Amino acid sequence: MAGTPLSNQSLRRFEVRSADSLLSILDAGQVGLWEWNVQTGENLITPAWAAQLGLSVEALSPFSFDAFIELVHPEDHEQVTQTVRQHLNGETDCYLASFRMRHDDDTWVWIEARGQVTKRSPNGQPLLMSGIHRNISDLKKVEEELRQRSNTDAMTGWYNRAYFLQAGAVIVSRALRQRSRLALLMFDIDHFKSINDQFGHATGDCVIETLCGQIGGRLRAIDIAGRLGGEEFAILLDGAGLGDARNIAESLRESIASVEFISPQHEPFQVTASFGVTMVDDHNDSIENLLSRADAALYQAKANGRNRTELA
Ligand code: GH3
Ligand code: MG
Ligand code: MG
Repeated sequence: MAGTPLSNQSLRRFEVRSADSLLSILDAGQVGLWEWNVQTGENLITPAWAAQLGLSVEALSPFSFDAFIELVHPEDHEQVTQTVRQHLNGETDCYLASFRMRHDDDTWVWIEARGQVTKRSPNGQPLLMSGIHRNISDLKKVEEELRQRSNTDAMTGWYNRAYFLQAGAVIVSRALRQRSRLALLMFDIDHFKSINDQFGHATGDCVIETLCGQIGGRLRAIDIAGRLGGEEFAILLDGAGLGDARNIAESLRESIASVEFISPQHEPFQVTASFGVTMVDDHNDSIENLLSRADAALYQAKANGRNRTELA
């Protein structure tokens, strides 16, 4: 009966009557089986294995380990061959890897592979290795969505502070290693409290969302934009020196000031923002140092009358 757990007694009675019935159970469960002859390279696969790629066993015959690797995403080749090698060398108890494989419709399918050496020669050489393939594309999609959600700010779609610091640390150390230029700009909306006070919090939210959308659309794919807190933001500009970053900051500042908002009371209004800019200029620089210098420049921009850019 569905949902009834197998008792010890029924478990004892549970038996697979033939290899064929086992294969049809695995095919029905969409679990693909493979058996690789390590010596000859020959690779046997089941219909469920091939079906995960939209193919039939016949279409893939004769199949080999090399033919399998050819179907693996080029970026995952190294990982797959290394994990297999480690298991064959006896460094791991079991081969376990997840990687992308080319589907017949030219999309990529995420596969989880598990396997083990199942036969060795008397002197310990691996002869056969076998295991299973499962399609984990749905799982990977959910995983990616969760990762995206935990890295980004829901209101603006920009990276949140924690992820900005994490990504920033990697980018700063790469710039130091490659001795390439990297600038950081920070900005904070001017007198934002009074926007909330005059027009309400929802209008304040709308201002933040609109400005981030406007600015985000003007950035290059390699620029990293983060919401550090309330109405304070930072952008890492890869390849930019101080002069370039100042020009970009000035252009963004003008673009912010040019947006016309309409209040719930139908009054038009505009907002401005102050910018602080700095660049990597010391081999000891870190994302924290850059943020602290840009913050000092931003503080200066506020002190010097707001709606302006200062350099540090
Ligand atoms: P200035 O930066 O020019 O010195 O003045 P300010 O009024 O902008 O200063 P401050 O940074 O002290 O205030 C920011 C205000 O932004 C405080 C907070 O209520 C508001 N705020 C922060 N996050 C949000 C948000 O997500 N939505 C809205 N509507 N308001 C926010
Ligand atoms: Mg402010
Ligand atoms: Mg602020």
